[in-house]
Amino acid sequence: MPPETLSWLRLVLLVGLVWLGSCREATESRSSVLLVLTDTVRADKLGCYGNERGLTPNLDVFAARGLRFSRASSHAPWTLPATATILTGLYPAEHGAGGRLGDFQGLRGDVTTLPAVFNGAGYDTHCIANVGFLDSAFGVTRDFQTTDIVAPKSNVEMRDARRTTDAALAWLESHGERPFFLLVHYFDAHAVYNPPLPFRERFAREPDRRDGSWLFPTRAQMVALRSGAPLPPRETLERAEALYDGEVAYLDQELGRLLEGLEQRGLAEETAVVITSDHGEEFLDHGGFEHGHQLYQELLHVPLLLSARGVKPAVVERVVGQVDLARTLCRLAGLTPPAQFTRFGHDLLDTELPSRPILAQGNMWGEPLFALRMGSEKLIRREDGSLELYDLGVDPGEQSDLAALRPERVVALEGLLGEVQRYCEAHAAGRDLELPAELLRHLRSAGYAGEEER
Ligand SMILES: [Zn+2]
Repeated sequence: MPPETLSWLRLVLLVGLVWLGSCREATESRSSVLLVLTDTVRADKLGCYGNERGLTPNLDVFAARGLRFSRASSHAPWTLPATATILTGLYPAEHGAGGRLGDFQGLRGDVTTLPAVFNGAGYDTHCIANVGFLDSAFGVTRDFQTTDIVAPKSNVEMRDARRTTDAALAWLESHGERPFFLLVHYFDAHAVYNPPLPFRERFAREPDRRDGSWLFPTRAQMVALRSGAPLPPRETLERAEALYDGEVAYLDQELGRLLEGLEQRGLAEETAVVITSDHGEEFLDHGGFEHGHQLYQELLHVPLLLSARGVKPAVVERVVGQVDLARTLCRLAGLTPPAQFTRFGHDLLDTELPSRPILAQGNMWGEPLFALRMGSEKLIRREDGSLELYDLGVDPGEQSDLAALRPERVVALEGLLGEVQRYCEAHAAGRDLELPAELLRHLRSAGYAGEEER
């Protein structure tokens, strides 16, 4: 081999080694990201959001050490479309994941997901989840390198928070040197509410404190309610909400253990942590129960807590949305977000941002609805075109419809809603699904009946 070829080969080898070294250095200096998604936890159950039952001591301490977004919105009232927004930075009409009971749609094939961006930057990406809608068959978690997703066999038998935290800690223990993006989803606060005995004893109503036999709602009750069966008496739903409180408190204990585990493994300093919920839950706030059926704040107002190196503790009162998370998680990791994440998503760490309209849509059952929030005002449009207007600044519980009193605001907000909606729908189209038979069986046994069962 001529000497000049040998020198050229040496040069190529040297450049390659330097490049590999710089890649390694670049990934090693980047923050890891832990995204915790607590299914069905409404913001007003956390102490740091004003709840006085003492359900969430660990989350309250976490909130005080980082950023707490006091006006954070989900964009859909159930898991599939809401989580797809978190992982794509797109509104439900555009990412396509969601659909209706019995006609579910998957994430569009051409949409970029957050784990795909982390994969491209050399991260380890892993998803731990406990509901069939986060199965990769729906597309939302398709780009995680590895997944540990347990679809509940029924709406009682599920992997609980203790075992979910164990799975997360075991993964943290075993993962290598590279930075990671870990999503951990907890299903405990979702119906059926059935907290472990110590939490029943502390938070349930008197007849249910020691007797662990009463559960609500059973699968049959959930299916019936979604098909329009009358609600049970208020007293039954109050008992149910007390059990739900017990689930939130149990979840808080296990989140505390997860955060402590991060600390003990020496990972806390280099890991940005975001904790949020996909949507809330209704307990007769507007005459209904559960979620997936309307767009009032008990379903859209979600906790959003963030802690990362260099971020000073604060309460952020600006109106923000989970559509901002994909962009922000890139920023926290030091990655450049793709244009898709910045189309609607703002950087949550940017304090100078102007207010902008925030959209919600995508009921799974009940009439199709759209909602638009702009500052403290919120407009809801029903299927028949009728409109409701609320001023959340003075009426956070949405009890006084101002549509008749402020017609000019209704016209302005409806115009904005139409603009955002038209834009999304021009890009929209969900992916038709052929779901594996076993996954369908699990969904049906958890109360998500398709047409043939109704
Ligand atoms: Zn959910």
